[in-house]
Amino acid sequence: MQSLRKLYKIGHGPSSSHTMGPGFASEYVKNKYIDATHYKVTLYNSLALTGKGHLTDAIIIKTLSPKPVEILFNIDINRHPNYLVFDIYQDDALLDSISVRSIGGGDILYDKEENDIKHVYQEQSFDEIKLYCQTHELSLFDYVLKNESDILPFLTDIWTQMKETVQTGLKTEGLLPGDLKVVRKAKTLIDRAKANESDSQQQNRLVSAYAFAASEENGAGGVIVTAPTCGASGVLPALLYYLYKHKGIKEDKIIESIGIAGIIGNVIKHNATISGAVGGCQAEVGSACSMAAAAMAYIEDLSLDEIEYAAEIAMEHHLGLTCDPIDGYVQIPCIERNAVAAIRAINAASLAGFLTDTRKISFDMIVHTMYQTGLDMHPKYKETAEAGMAFFYKNKK
Ligand code: SF4
Repeated sequence: MQSLRKLYKIGHGPSSSHTMGPGFASEYVKNKYIDATHYKVTLYNSLALTGKGHLTDAIIIKTLSPKPVEILFNIDINRHPNYLVFDIYQDDALLDSISVRSIGGGDILYDKEENDIKHVYQEQSFDEIKLYCQTHELSLFDYVLKNESDILPFLTDIWTQMKETVQTGLKTEGLLPGDLKVVRKAKTLIDRAKANESDSQQQNRLVSAYAFAASEENGAGGVIVTAPTCGASGVLPALLYYLYKHKGIKEDKIIESIGIAGIIGNVIKHNATISGAVGGCQAEVGSACSMAAAAMAYIEDLSLDEIEYAAEIAMEHHLGLTCDPIDGYVQIPCIERNAVAAIRAINAASLAGFLTDTRKISFDMIVHTMYQTGLDMHPKYKETAEAGMAFFYKNKK
């Protein structure tokens, strides 16, 4: 498995696979061919169907500017769901064609260029990690440090950005970009959290407000942390911000918990997918919920088994979740879904704390189940904006 630095990325929303990944690929092309005069970029499949709402064309044109770019949209089911081809020209001559797969979380793979993949964790699954920790009497965070001894400053930066994203979202009002005219609601939610509500009501309200804040920032193209993706970037920060602000959890512990969540995200990314175009929203928000549940279990000093169980419960109850963003914007259902998942992560950690002895499903098993479910899912339910709510919304207009 790769470094946690490859999982958590600070960058602009709204989509890691549709905005960040194509942006990184455009930078690579721009730097490699400095004599290019113009480009033709073809977006395939999910990138073609939801690329406009996810600002794929906009980030490519912006990155390659001031040179002209022609963007084409195409469907070819024999290619990767997020596939793009850069044709690079110098006057009338085609200098090269570079093909790229955007595989989720901002990661990209080139078909013919060298890919930057370095495995710093030798264990391949959660079972292997657990065995290693038990054999060497390590906590899960010790395991992170054993493999990445210099990771703490990076995790601290990630936490700093998560706080900033939530805080910015909480004080920003108005409409999100795009035709849907979605009203930002984080500030309203936080203003309405009343002192005389019951603890659970207030917890739900506050966690939701923080999730809306981070996800609205993402929907607006603001700066976020992929956790593990842009679309799901509100879940983990919402939960951690709540625990920090209202439950007195120290920042050191929160920063360590981001490492724990990272291991969970890494196991999913390594053995399955974190891309909505490959596995549906279970792979994005489901993964984020697993990460947040594990972080919460760690903060509550639950055992390694209980941390695993929390992550498993969180994923199990997202199985089959489709990706059907209305009009291709990472807004509906995405923003609200982040809030629901953040609350669900609390429930998962709570259940894990008293039911772990009875469990029959391992985290690895649920990761494989999620992946197979995603592969079996009809392509139109995987980030095409052609099915589910996106279909019915479009046809009601
Ligand atoms: S529905 Fe889920 S997977 Fe699809 S764009 Fe929204 S957050 Fe991402």
